Amino acid sequence: MKFFAVFGDPIKHSLSPRIHNLALQELKLQGRYIRYLLKDKNDLKNKFIQLKLCGANVTVPHKEAAALQADICSDFVKKIGAANTLVAKNNQIYAYNTDAPGFMGAINEFIKNYDIKNALILGAGGTALALAHAMFDSNIEVNILNRSKERLNKFKDYFQTDTWDTFCIRKFDIIINTTSAGLNDDNLPAPNELLEPILTNSRCAFDVIYGKKTPFLSLCNKFDKPAKDGADMLLYQAVLAFELFFENKLNKEDITRAMKKAFLLK
Ligand code: NDP
Repeated sequence: MKFFAVFGDPIKHSLSPRIHNLALQELKLQGRYIRYLLKDKNDLKNKFIQLKLCGANVTVPHKEAAALQADICSDFVKKIGAANTLVAKNNQIYAYNTDAPGFMGAINEFIKNYDIKNALILGAGGTALALAHAMFDSNIEVNILNRSKERLNKFKDYFQTDTWDTFCIRKFDIIINTTSAGLNDDNLPAPNELLEPILTNSRCAFDVIYGKKTPFLSLCNKFDKPAKDGADMLLYQAVLAFELFFENKLNKEDITRAMKKAFLLK
C-alpha cells in the first residue's frame, strides 16, 4: 500500500484527496491519499518521512518550504524556489512544480486560438512566479501588476513589473488573475478603472481560482472576453503529480479520465 498526502494551511477545502483517491481507485492501485493540516512549515520534511509517504502535494503557504527542504529539486523548482509535488525515491525527497506545466496545458487552446505573444499577470505571489516563468520559457512576454511593491522584487530580473500606481494601460493578449481576490470575497484583483480598459484591449483571460464565478470572470463576461477558470489547471497539475508519484509508468489518458470524474462529484 502506498501513502500520499497534501500539506497546507488551511487544507480543508483541498480537492486533491478526492481527485487522487479516485484515480487510485479507478486505476486499481493500492494506495491512499490524505489531507494534512501543517501549521509549522519547518515540520514538512519530518512529517513526510514520519507518515512514510511515497509522494505528496504541497499547497499554500508551504511551497517555498517544500523547495528548501527537498533533497533534490528539478531545474524549474531551483529557478523559482517553490515546489508543489514531492516524491520519495531511493531514500531521498525530490521536488517538482506541476502548477506551471498544468497552467500551460490549461491555456493551450488560448495560445493556439488567440496567438498569445504577451501576457499580463495580476498578482505577484508564488503562483504568479511559477506561471510567469512557464510562459517566459514558452517565449511569451510577461508583465506583472500587483497591489503592493514588496513581492515584485522576485520578478524584476525577468519581467516588467508595476503596482497599480505606476501601471500604464496598454494591449495584452491574455490577462491572468493569480491573486486570491474573489476567492472568499467579492473583490476584483485590481481597481475597476484599470481592469476595464485592460480587458477591453485583451483577447482572452484566465483565473486560477476554480469552482466559482469570481468578480474577475464576471467582468470578462461583461466585456465578451473568452475566459477560463482554474479547474483545468488543477486537473492537469494533479495528473502530472500522479505520473511522478508512479515514476511515469502509468498511462496519462487513463489518469486524466479517472481524475475528471472527481470534478463531476458534488
Ligand atoms: P500568495 O499568497 O503567494 O499571493 C497572493 C497574491 O494575491 C499577492 O500578489 C497579493 O498581493 C494578491 N492579493 C491578495 N488579495 C488581494 C486583493 N484583495 N486585491 C488584489 N490583490 C490581492 O498566493 P498564491 O500565489 O500561492 O495563490 C494565489 C491563488 O492561486 C489562490 O487563490 C490559490 O487558490 C490559486 N491557485 C490555484 C491553482 C490551480 O490549480 N487552479 C494552483 C495554485 C494556486 P500583495 O502582494 O499586495 O499582498
